[in-house]
Amino acid sequence: MIKEISLNTSSRNELVDITNKIEELVSDVKEGIVTVFCPHTTAAITINEGADPDVKKDILWKLSQLIPKDEDYKHSEGNSDAHIKSSLIGCSESVIVKDGKLVLGTWQSIYFCEFDGPRNRKVIVNISKS
Ligand code: ZN
Repeated sequence: MIKEISLNTSSRNELVDITNKIEELVSDVKEGIVTVFCPHTTAAITINEGADPDVKKDILWKLSQLIPKDEDYKHSEGNSDAHIKSSLIGCSESVIVKDGKLVLGTWQSIYFCEFDGPRNRKVIVNISKS
C-alpha cells in the first residue's frame, strides 16, 4: 500500500519529526515494514534522537559547517549545499512495524530533513505487510 504525506517546512534548514504521521499510517499493520521515501533532491529522511531537541540543532549546525552554502559550486540554482546534504543523509529509511507500532529504539524518531526550505514537501510511504 502506497500513501503520501504532505508537509510545509518553515526554515531553510530544518528537521521535522514525522514519526507520528508515519505511525498513524501503520496502525492496522500486525507485522510488516514501512519504507519512508523523500522524492526531493534538496531534502532527506533520517532516523535519530527525538528526545533532546539539541541533537537536531547539532546535526544541522555540523552539516552547515561541513557543507557551507556559499562555496565555488557550479550548479546555477545556488542550492548546491542542499543537494550535497540530501545525498549525504539519503532519501529513505525502512522501519519494521509490529502490532501497529513502529519498531524504533526508545530515543529514535523519523525526521524529514529540509535543506532548501521553506517549501511544500511530500513524503511517499510504502507499507508492506508480512
Ligand atoms: Zn538545485
